[in-house]
Amino acid sequence: MKIVSIRGYKGSGKTSVATTLIRELKSRGYKVSSVKSIHMEGWRIDQPGKNSYAHREAGAEPVAAWGLEETAIIFPRRLKPMELLKFFNADWLFVEGDLHLPVPQIVCAKSVEDAQELRNGLTFMFSGILSNEIDELDGLPVINALEDPQKFVDFVEEKVFQALPFFDCGDCGMDCQGMAEAILRGEKTVKDCVMMQKDNVQIFVAGKRVPLNPFVQNIIGSVVKGAVYSLKGVEKGKEIRIKILDPDLL
Ligand code: SF4
Repeated sequence: MKIVSIRGYKGSGKTSVATTLIRELKSRGYKVSSVKSIHMEGWRIDQPGKNSYAHREAGAEPVAAWGLEETAIIFPRRLKPMELLKFFNADWLFVEGDLHLPVPQIVCAKSVEDAQELRNGLTFMFSGILSNEIDELDGLPVINALEDPQKFVDFVEEKVFQALPFFDCGDCGMDCQGMAEAILRGEKTVKDCVMMQKDNVQIFVAGKRVPLNPFVQNIIGSVVKGAVYSLKGVEKGKEIRIKILDPDLL
């Protein structure tokens, strides 16, 4: 999945940029998801007095509000970024706001000062209100998403890469932030992420993926394949899934 964060102060044009991206990439045949980060104190979907709110007050987590037109799964807290990402399985995910993970960022701004203040090593372009005035800033393009959506989305497609695993394992000689910045500068590619190249053995404990380096993946893969292929009727060369559910075995 490719992930892009769209950052900017209120009124800078973030939502217009997000909706342009969503619409244009949908028309190009991609599956697109989005997140709107909300920082308003006291904001909540669920309200005191609603039955679903009473379920939550009684201790249920999560609570589903299961309507005829919509379904909302409500957690009574702000999820961590990695917890949130588990719910998405699209070609593209756009986050309006800061995801607090090393993903490419578009900065929307009203002024050069705002743009320069928000820019960091993950910023690959500027947009928003500022794009009515200039088309380049500090070596990065400033593109008007509304006037030229094709050019805007072409550039996003060119620059954005498959999301890194965010393990910060250091096997590539840097952390994921450093790798993401190096890819955006054109010095590295996702193929330089060691974890992504040898990612054929995955372990999840209680739904959370455990980082495995290539050496450990090789050992576990060999042992499991040896045991499974010795069983009668097992076809080789297919995906193998193992679940251990009984706590007595753990
Ligand atoms: S190898 Fe991949 S997962 Fe590990 S730190 Fe480098 S970029 Fe991140």
